[in-house]
Amino acid sequence: MSTEKIDDSAEWLTRFRNVHPTAAARDHDPKFGRVFVRGAGARLWDVAGNDYIDLTCGYSAANFGQSFPPLIEAANRQLQTLTHLTGEPHVGRIALAERLLDAFDWPRESSQVMFNTTGARAIETAWKAATAFRPGKIVTLGPAFHGRSLATLPLGHTQPLAPLGLLDEHILCGASAEYPYCAACPLQLHYPDCDLQCVSQVLTMISDRAPEISAVLVEPAIGARGMIVPPAELFQRLCRIARQHGILLIADEIQTGLGRFGHLSLAKGQGWQPDLLVLGKSLGGGLVPISAVLGRSDVLECLVVGSESETFAASPLATAVASEVLEQLTCGPWIERGASAGEKLRAFTRKLLQQHDSAASSIVEGQGACCVIEFGSQAAPRARRFAEACVGQHLLPQLTGPELTRVALMPPLTINEEELSVTCSRLQLAFADCMDFEAELP
Ligand code: PLP
Repeated sequence: MSTEKIDDSAEWLTRFRNVHPTAAARDHDPKFGRVFVRGAGARLWDVAGNDYIDLTCGYSAANFGQSFPPLIEAANRQLQTLTHLTGEPHVGRIALAERLLDAFDWPRESSQVMFNTTGARAIETAWKAATAFRPGKIVTLGPAFHGRSLATLPLGHTQPLAPLGLLDEHILCGASAEYPYCAACPLQLHYPDCDLQCVSQVLTMISDRAPEISAVLVEPAIGARGMIVPPAELFQRLCRIARQHGILLIADEIQTGLGRFGHLSLAKGQGWQPDLLVLGKSLGGGLVPISAVLGRSDVLECLVVGSESETFAASPLATAVASEVLEQLTCGPWIERGASAGEKLRAFTRKLLQQHDSAASSIVEGQGACCVIEFGSQAAPRARRFAEACVGQHLLPQLTGPELTRVALMPPLTINEEELSVTCSRLQLAFADCMDFEAELP
């Protein structure tokens, strides 16, 4: 049977379920139910030929959209030259490492770079180096997400893997609520008057137990679990405690870095400097898997010889694409253009909310190329309905947040005016649909 001829998503999904365990079905994801065959820029096409505007970019892995020509050209050039080496030095790898340090303002004489293929593996590399430099536990904060490998899964404490014994013995997780989720503050306080009371307990814990702590691992904004940007003051306080006790700070910028939040590095935009900075996802431009840890040489040099290597890490193809990603981000207009698209979406959705009395408890947040509609606590059904209505209008948003009350719209940085205007028209229709539904709510 020729697979290309089937133009029915349902039939493909049956075949999908036959060959994958249930765990592969992401039922929280409103995209579920469509099977895609093609993409160009901000658009994706399903097997039936319907086109969608992608407002997820693969959790910010494809920040340049699909098949961005400069990246395709860089990949094609490299494919004619040198495709694979495992571990051997090659010029593309060296040039990318130097370029990363320069772009992120890490001094070459005291900083180094390690490469991996995935975000989870890069987090493990940073974790290994941190504990080799300063033995102890790793602390994670809030509703964090740092990967799904056996080691990184328990770092996002909502899915502990107790049998591994990593939790408690090697990991200290701040509770999910101990994080500035200001739009749904569990203490019902307001920043800055609240004085960040939500984190006072976890910060005190870090101070009190400092001798047993190696590092604090933190996302400058919560990515996969809500696109929540905390007040920068959180990091100033963390830095003070970490510096006082010699604890290392690791910034997981796998999702926040490389332009999504209006900066190459969101941590830098917030005015703080980690000891190790982890990049992934969009570093490969949505074409190739590549991740990196930038960090203090004295910390990275503590990695035990032979403790870190991957067959496909920093392959010539991956480094060629990543170098072009950096070139585009540092010399092109994309971070500003993405931020401007985000601002337009925020302004438009704010206007839509104002037109509907029943949306009084909803607010619009976000930064850079990210627009988030927070429907408010207790409003998960409404948020889901809106996300589904978006899919019905051929927009692909991300239903997210600790209680799934948030709908994030994250266009490619390259989205053009026409695609943005189509997005706004479709959002308007999705809102109307969502508000009709609210009339039916008890
Ligand atoms: N850290 C953050 C903040 C992420 O968003 C992700 C993936 O979504 C990861 C780590 C894990 O990256 P990967 O899926 O490439 O292992």
